[in-house]
Amino acid sequence: MDIRENINSLKEELPAGVKLVAITKTKPIEDILQAYHAGHIIFGENKVQELNQKQGLLPSDIQWHMVGHLQSNKVKYIAPFVHLIHSVDSMKLLQTINREGIKNNRVIDCLLQVYIALEETKFGLSEEELYDIFKTDEFKRFTNVRICGLMGMATFTEDENVVRKEFRTLKGLFNKLKSSYFSEKSNFTELSMGMSGDYKIAVEEGSTMVRIGSLIFGERY
Ligand SMILES: *Cc1c(COP(=O)(O)O)cnc(C)c1O
Repeated sequence: MDIRENINSLKEELPAGVKLVAITKTKPIEDILQAYHAGHIIFGENKVQELNQKQGLLPSDIQWHMVGHLQSNKVKYIAPFVHLIHSVDSMKLLQTINREGIKNNRVIDCLLQVYIALEETKFGLSEEELYDIFKTDEFKRFTNVRICGLMGMATFTEDENVVRKEFRTLKGLFNKLKSSYFSEKSNFTELSMGMSGDYKIAVEEGSTMVRIGSLIFGERY
C-alpha cells in the first residue's frame, strides 16, 4: 500500500471543491503520518476514544473530523479541537455541542446526518425529524454551533442505481433546506457523501466532501 500515492491520485481525481476526508479508523499513527507528510491534513475517525488518542499524538495542524455515531456524554472529549462533526442526529446532541462550544469558547461546525439507506443499522435523522429541527427555529439561537450541511451514507450494495438514488435524495433535501432556511451567503454549504466504494457516484450527485478510508490505507481487519 503506497499511502502517499493513494492520497495524491485521489486528490488529482477529485474535482476542485470536493474535500477529501481521510478516514483513519483502526490505522496506526505511522500510516497517518505518511498521509500527513504527503501534505494531507484532513482526517476523520468514527470513535471518540480513538480520535482523542490520535489527536494527542499527531501534529496539531491536522483538522480532525468526527464521522461516527456520537453520544452526548462524550462530546466534551472532542469539543476543544474537533474541526467538523459529521454525525449529528438529534436536537439533544446539538444542544450539548452548543454547550460544550460555549465552555471551550469556540464555534463547533456540524453536519446533520440523514438516514438515506435501506439498512436499519445506519444512524441518522429521518426527513421528518430533520424538518422538525429546522421548524423549531431553535437552531438559529445556537451561539456556538454552526450547521454547515448534511451527511449521509448510502446502502452497501452493488446496485449503483440504489446508491445514486439515495445520494440524489440527500442532495434534494440539502437544496430544499438551503433555500428555505439559509441565506445565499450562509455556511450551509457542505454535503458529506461518498466512501471508498461509492465516492464516484457521490461526486456526480453533488458531494462536496468524501470520506475515504480503505482506498487510501488499505482494508481494515
Ligand atoms: C469507515 C467510514 C468511512 C470510510 O469507509 P471506507 O469504505 O473505508 O472508505 C466513511 N464514513 C464513515 C462514517 C465511516 O465510519
